[in-house]
Amino acid sequence: DTRKGPILYVEGVSVSFDGFKALNNLSLYINDGELRCIIGPNGAGKTTMMDVITGKTRPDQGQVYFGQTINLLALQEHEIARGGIGRKFQKPTVLETLSVYDNLELAMASNKGVWSCLLHTLNGEQRDRIAEVLHLIRLTAQARQQAGALSHGQKQWLEIGMLLMQNPRILLVDEPVAGMTGEETERTAELLTSLAGRHAVIVVEHDMAFVRSIARTVTVLHQGSVLAEGSMDKIQNDPKVIEVYLGE
Ligand code: ADP
Repeated sequence: DTRKGPILYVEGVSVSFDGFKALNNLSLYINDGELRCIIGPNGAGKTTMMDVITGKTRPDQGQVYFGQTINLLALQEHEIARGGIGRKFQKPTVLETLSVYDNLELAMASNKGVWSCLLHTLNGEQRDRIAEVLHLIRLTAQARQQAGALSHGQKQWLEIGMLLMQNPRILLVDEPVAGMTGEETERTAELLTSLAGRHAVIVVEHDMAFVRSIARTVTVLHQGSVLAEGSMDKIQNDPKVIEVYLGE
């Protein structure tokens, strides 16, 4: 293994809202290519943590590094997004009147120019990448369909595909299976598992069966810091974790 330590360092991060500590000395290390699930009761700080990583919220204290040298706290939200950290929100933002293919093309073009993209001036390598992503997200057969005609699950996959067009090193995914059918949930597990390795994938999710089906390492947040971390078996037998979830 030639990897040199974590791709993401979150160290001693605190965030307060009107004196209330949403994050309290939170430390978290994500390895390159790993698939990590973040769980925790409502209000544990999961969203705030993602907001800090993506530059939306500035911490009062602590450090956030991409690799060993890039200080994310010195960058703007759009610079972080372009630099390699993609975030998928719960609500899909696909362009409904465009085809699946054109949605991917536009997502690829965000720093190349939207107009040249719509004139279909992509080179072979770019077309190959779109074909590859269509295959990954299982929408090859739907490439020419309007995105608005996709099922809820398919829209979520398209949105993940749009993030992939930017070649992120880290993907943050917020509740990917909310509202999905059982079959869509299974396919989403396969998709996220297949992305790990090439990308670090951080999934915030409430659905425990889903977390069990994908995660190697689970981090439990509670009151703004890490309560427990480890395999799902270890987490589920941890008395601290059981207590927090029973109290919900
Ligand atoms: P989670 O995503 O785990 O449910 P959040 O990160 O959304 O937790 O919230 C952590 C705590 O911080 C909650 O108690 C929430 O009410 C509070 N909080 C989050 N954002 C704000 C904000 N912008 N202003 C005030 N309080 C906030």
